[in-house]
Parts: sequence; C-alpha cells; structure tokens
Amino acid sequence: MNLSLRSRELMKELRKVTYARDDILDRPLDRPYVFYAPNLCGSYAIFIFGSYRCDKYLRGLCTPCHYSGLLHPASAPRSEVFASILDQTDYLLAHFDELVFAHQDGRGAGYRLNRPHEGGRFADLQIAGEGSFLRDGEVPPEIRREVLRRLVEFSRRERINLHVGLEVKAEDVVHAEARGELESWGRWVEELNLTLIMGFESIDPFVRNVIFNKDLSLESIERAISIGHARGMRPTCFVYPGNHGMTDAEAVADAVASVRWLRSRDAGIYMMLPNLQPHTIPHVLYHAGAYNLIDVRTAVGILDELLAGSQGESPVHYHAGDDWNIGGVTSEPDPEINVFTNERAASCAACRGAFRAAVWHLAQRHDVVGYRERVSAIEACACRERHVESARSDERRSARPIAERVEEDLERVAAEIPGYRPGRTVLKSGAGAG
Ligand code: SF4
Ligand SMILES: [Zn+2]
Repeated sequence: MNLSLRSRELMKELRKVTYARDDILDRPLDRPYVFYAPNLCGSYAIFIFGSYRCDKYLRGLCTPCHYSGLLHPASAPRSEVFASILDQTDYLLAHFDELVFAHQDGRGAGYRLNRPHEGGRFADLQIAGEGSFLRDGEVPPEIRREVLRRLVEFSRRERINLHVGLEVKAEDVVHAEARGELESWGRWVEELNLTLIMGFESIDPFVRNVIFNKDLSLESIERAISIGHARGMRPTCFVYPGNHGMTDAEAVADAVASVRWLRSRDAGIYMMLPNLQPHTIPHVLYHAGAYNLIDVRTAVGILDELLAGSQGESPVHYHAGDDWNIGGVTSEPDPEINVFTNERAASCAACRGAFRAAVWHLAQRHDVVGYRERVSAIEACACRERHVESARSDERRSARPIAERVEEDLERVAAEIPGYRPGRTVLKSGAGAG
C-alpha cells in the first residue's frame, strides 16, 4: 500500500466536515484572525488573513494540522473575498495599539534588526494567509503587494520599526522568486525586516513525506532557504518532534537531526511543541489509545539540543546570540491537548506545569539559566519512574519497522472513522468575522 496516498484519503475524509463549513460566513471578513505566542517581545500577534483554505489542507496533507479549519466566507464573490484582505489589513493597522502593543513593550530588546525610525518603538508580528502569505489562491500578488505597501506607509507615518514574519510555504517562495516578485519588493524587505517562516517538520523523508505527509521535497526547502538568504529575508523553519507511529526516542533523534541540518544551512529554527487538533490522524489515534504526544521529559531533551547549538554571534541571526523560537505553546484554533495538559503523559501534572512555566520563561526571555533552574524540579520528581517504564515499552515497539507501525495506525484510523465525532472547534474571542 502507498502509505502517503492512504494517509491523504483518510485526512480528506476526516476534514470533510470542515470543508463543508465554507459557507458558514455569508460575507467576507472585516478583520483578520489573530492569536498570540510568547517570544522575546513578550507576546507577538500572528494574523491570519481569512480568504480561502491552504491547498495542502484541501489535499489531505500535513497530518497534525487544523490551521485551515477556520470559518470561511466562500459564498461571497471571489473578488470581494480578496478585497477583504485589505479591510483586514486596515483593521489591523487601525487597532495596532490594542492588537500588538498591548502585548509587547515596544522596545524589541535582543533583536538585531534594522530600525529605520531612530528612537521609534519596535513591533514584532507575523502574517499569514490561511497557510501561506505567498500563495496566490489565498492572497493574490497584487493584494499582498498592497498589504506590504500599507505596512510600510504605516511604519513611516507612525515611526514604528517593524519586524514582519511572513508565514509561507517553501514552494510558494520558489515561485515568487522565479517571477521576480521578491525582487520587486525592493527596500521594503529591509524596512519591514521581512523574514520567512516555513513548514519543514523533519529532515527524514519518511517522517516528512509519509508520517507528516507534507509532499515537500528537500530540494524545495533548500531552494527556499537559499532564496531567503539571497533576498535578505532570514529563513526560519518549523521542526515538529514526534507524530503517530514514532516513539519518543525516534522523535528526539529526528528533531536533533532536523535542527542540525537547518543549522548547517544557516536557517533559524521554530521548534514546535506538539498539540492535538481535531479532524486529524493523531487526534483519532489518541482517542483510540494508539498515539500519545511526546512527554515533557522528551521535550526537555529536544530543547537541550536547540539550546546547545544556539549561542553564537552570527551577524545574520535576528536575535542577539541565538536564532530560534518555540511554537505550539498556544495556537489557533485552541488545541484540545498539548504537552502541558496531556493527562496521559508519563509526567505528572506538577511536572507538566513546571515545564509550561519554564518554556514560557525561555520563550520570552531566552534565559537559558533561568529555564534550566525551572526544569530541574522535573528531574527530581518520582514520576520519572513512569517515564522510564514508558521508554521501555517504546523500545519494544521500535523493534518493528516504522512503516509497519504507520500502516497499522492508518488501518486503525480507517476503522475508527465511522464513530469519530470530534467536538466543534472553538475560536478565541476577538477572532473572526465582524
Ligand atoms: S501545515 Fe501549513 S501547509 Fe500544511 S496544511 Fe497546515 S497550513 Fe497548510
Ligand atoms: Zn512529576
């Protein structure tokens, strides 16, 4: 059986109900979806311009992802949906204090980025389409040019130094470069400190293109990273440790190899802490007792690797000294479960809570010493025994080839689908249609 194709069929079946919800909004959005993630600024806003779903989502790819499971205005005329992206941009700019500065202190200490407006405040934000800001079917080229132009105009008028991360797909970066679009942005790249944030998940082809089912070639991601460097848009890639079929030890080995490969290409790392989203293969398996998120002790091991190689003075890093972010601490839609709240974890609630506090501290301060102090409590806790026991049972599982385990998982999902009824996704207040 071709496991990637099988996984695609199952994901389409699982997402079918979300595809059918397209018409639930009868008019275009007048404001973007927004959620917040902790980082060196405090909390930075991630704006999702609602228009049309990510193509990979529609093709049944990316097995843990529900990012494109938002409500949609698809019954409105296409031209109005695309034009609404400019209304969403205007809303963002008109409410900038409340949406951005209320969550960060405006200093941007620790950022080594261009500050064209001397003495001006600094703001960090990220913008995306539903999957990729550079995908024409989500944000057409003339619309994204206008979005960027309005950001530049706003930054000049208000004398605010911006760092704008663009969440994009590697394939779209390659297309945009080929048709000269990135070059056409000229000095805006420096002025807005544009950076690229791209899905990657894993260096291992089986993990990336079968288990995660990304349909992403190494060549595409390598080219996109090189284009980012050449255009002065710092490339950062997501790494996602562990997914169905994998043991925790395999998740660590895979994340370590992925981090090292990205560092060898001088790319920044966006380390995701896994969470569980509805309408996905991991969600079905979790509820069938056939999958678990990595344990916090496993996550500690992965962050050790992230931190070990991070300190340096490379002038291309946009953070002073290091070049990583931690994601998955919060998300939109809200995850049902993440590594901090997973009651099936080997680690106890106190250890999961200590890890949450440690990760928030690390994400917001990049203070490695303070982080280590906070996780040291986990080392001593008696729940370590359960973690050791779970590692032993993982070892027994890993005696079977991974492809066999994945095949068995997919069969299990197919058997579970008829009775699968996930709860309705709840969007956070403040997000969505006006
Ligand atoms: S991970 Fe990104 S590319 Fe994949 S379906 Fe989700 S939004 Fe689309
Ligand atoms: Zn404990």
